[in-house]
Amino acid sequence: MKIFCVGRNYSEHAKELGNAVPENPVIFSKPDTALLKNNEPFYLPSFSNDIHHEVELVIRINKVGKKIQEQFARNYFNEIGLGIDFTARDIQTHLKAKGLPWELAKAFDGSAPIGNFINIENKDLSTIHFSLKKNGEIVQQGNSHDMIFSFEKIVAFISNYFTLKVGDLIYTGTPSGVAAVKIGDKLEGFIENDLMLSCEVK
Ligand code: ZN
Repeated sequence: MKIFCVGRNYSEHAKELGNAVPENPVIFSKPDTALLKNNEPFYLPSFSNDIHHEVELVIRINKVGKKIQEQFARNYFNEIGLGIDFTARDIQTHLKAKGLPWELAKAFDGSAPIGNFINIENKDLSTIHFSLKKNGEIVQQGNSHDMIFSFEKIVAFISNYFTLKVGDLIYTGTPSGVAAVKIGDKLEGFIENDLMLSCEVK
């Protein structure tokens, strides 16, 4: 399976990192070794001093597709969940400045905690509220309404370049409020009021 992520999909977050709002989705990927399932803890890696949480809505592909048209994209995913796109911000800043690829900052082991999924067959995807609590306090909240590129646009765009397969995951971008984590932090992600994901930093 493949894991795709969308960068800069919420304008407030693009602004907080000093990035322009993109014309096309910014896409990167992570290997399957990035996944953390079943609320497994995240171990802070030694190569970074500035690992940020980015809470994101994640869709799961349930049908093989290639060159999917936006108007039919909804037929290719049927579940939504919550994930964290852990980012070594210090490394990413360095790589960005040099115009180098982001993998070392984004795709390392454990950089993609993933929680439970809910079926969305009859759900309105245009106003899904989600949030992240750190040690009980809300630190990030977003709404799919504020996405620059919709789920359908993202699926259509990615499938122009990559065949999507059953089980592939797409992390659809983070709202503002990203910040560093430290050992002992407890992260909890919610869709509406439902706890979807929890992850302790060790
Ligand atoms: Zn992200």
